Amino acid sequence: MSFLIGTILFILLQGHGISMTVTPAGLHPGSPFMLSIQGLVTGTTYNVEFDKRALSVSGTGSTDLLLGIDLGHPPGTDQVNLYAQGITMPITFTTVQVQGYAYPNQYLKLPKHFVELTPFQLKRVLKEQAKLDRIFAADKTRPLWQMGFIMPVNGIITTPFGVKRFLNGEQRSPHTGIDIAAGIGTPVMATNNGIVCFTGDMFFGGKSVVIDHGQGIYSMYFHLRNYTVKKGMRVKKSQVIGYVGMTGRVTGPALHFGIRVMDSRVDPQLLFSLTPKIQ
Ligand SMILES: [Zn+2]
Repeated sequence: MSFLIGTILFILLQGHGISMTVTPAGLHPGSPFMLSIQGLVTGTTYNVEFDKRALSVSGTGSTDLLLGIDLGHPPGTDQVNLYAQGITMPITFTTVQVQGYAYPNQYLKLPKHFVELTPFQLKRVLKEQAKLDRIFAADKTRPLWQMGFIMPVNGIITTPFGVKRFLNGEQRSPHTGIDIAAGIGTPVMATNNGIVCFTGDMFFGGKSVVIDHGQGIYSMYFHLRNYTVKKGMRVKKSQVIGYVGMTGRVTGPALHFGIRVMDSRVDPQLLFSLTPKIQ
């Protein structure tokens, strides 16, 4: 009994003075959000846990973390928990309200060979997906990003995030990025600072680049004509990493741009407005 009281007291003391706030207040599946934590004790390691994923942070007084509600997250109440190292119960938590959101439908009629995959193609697609999933699941806690994610190309958004796609009447997976139409050869820039963690030629994505921005944040650039970076290279925000093309499965020259935050698929457009650049 006294052990229990001691444990509770310890947890209360650890959590004392720590506060967490979520911005913005109105969130839905696909929303990135900022978690501001105040009162972290210097020299202590903490774990932030949300939607079954954890991110480790070192106590430095206060910190702003970027998290996200996955496109597939059900509406309702969820919780962000903060753990101190070595303690199994959260020292503090904050609730997150996930509102329902009706993403629009998109109906496309495309030639049959464009929609149906041969067993060989399917095998390739699954292999490529697994490779990217392994990249996104890797634990990379160091922050490389800074405030102000930028639009990676000058162009027009033709397909927004989250649309439910129907190809020749059949429902397919939703659109997990934004398509930005631009002329072939238009420069594509890194949305933020980071390290290139993948370059390659994929069945759907065509010539592709993935950048690791640290703390579980990744950006994806698909359908490039060519890329000018290599795996392991450090890139700065707005640095040119390649050029718009129409490689892979695409109907015209466009950049497919996607963002993952702690393995959650979020709307890049919301990220631009959430993280304004502080001049
Ligand atoms: Zn796309």
